Order: sequence, then structure tokens, then C-alpha cells
Amino acid sequence: MSSTTYEEWADEEIKTCATCRRDGARRCVGCHGAPDNEGRELYPTYYCSTQCQKTDYIRTHKHACKAAKDRRAVYRMGDMARCAFYAYLERLFDTSITKVEKKDDTLYLHQGKNDQNLLLPFPSKLFSNKDEKSAALTALARDNAIGFVHILIERMVGSAYTPCPILPPF
Ligand SMILES: [Zn+2]
Ligand SMILES: [Zn+2]
Repeated sequence: MSSTTYEEWADEEIKTCATCRRDGARRCVGCHGAPDNEGRELYPTYYCSTQCQKTDYIRTHKHACKAAKDRRAVYRMGDMARCAFYAYLERLFDTSITKVEKKDDTLYLHQGKNDQNLLLPFPSKLFSNKDEKSAALTALARDNAIGFVHILIERMVGSAYTPCPILPPF
């Protein structure tokens, strides 16, 4: 297993064969693009030849590669759930926002009245980019995300889903 740190790899991509330590430009496609444990892109595993790849796969890489692939699948599922959650919030939007201000990297949402809790069109024009829009939707939904998307996630993970026990109120 390579001892290259993420920072070293990010500064200058080091292409060293994980088996024989010679130059190796063939990257393992199995775990390519997968996130690491902290959600950053995993530094690629390189090989000089098919033989070195086979040797390393049998010796050590098999488990790490499978774990990385699984992590990539979980992150993709999370991305899909997040997109579905934002779409849901936009369609069932009931907060009156009159103005959006950005000061020192903080977004301030000025709220108007919606006494009758009417559904309102989401004010996309008030946000200058997609990240601001997503941040506003997340802030307004607060901790309701799990409640909104748990049925979707249950369907996505299928039989692997285990319902959480219902805890008594505090
Ligand atoms: Zn090699
Ligand atoms: Zn791999």
C-alpha cells in the first residue's frame, strides 16, 4: 500500500506502481473516482503492468478496492437523495423570502409573512448560484431531511434497510 499522503498526491500526482514501486501510469479503474473516508477524492492506485495489478489485487488491494467502490455507491446514493430532497422542498415551498444578502460568506434570508401557509414559488432569482440556493433550502428545512427522504433511501437500499427503533421522547 502506498504511503503517499493526500496532500502529496494533490500537489503533484505521483504515478508509482503499488507493487514494484517503479513508474506506473495504469490506474486501477475499480476504485477510480471513489471518495476516501473523509469524502475527498481517493488518490489513485497505479500499476506498471497487468501482472503487477494482479499481484497487488490478490495480495492487498482487493479489500481496499471493494470498500472504495462501496463508498462511491453510498456517496452517489446520497447525492441522489439530496437532489430529490431539494426538488421536493422547491415544489412544496411555503416560506416568503423578500431579500437575500451575502455578508462575509454568510447568507442572510429576509423573511416576509405567509400567515395562511400558502405554497409559494421558490424565489430562484434571489440567489446568484446553485450553492446559495441549496444552502438556503437546507437551512430552511433544518433537520427535516431524514424525515423527508427516509422512504426514498429505504427504497434505494432495498433489503439492506433496517428501520431505527422508535425512541421514547425526552
Ligand atoms: Zn509494477
Ligand atoms: Zn482499485
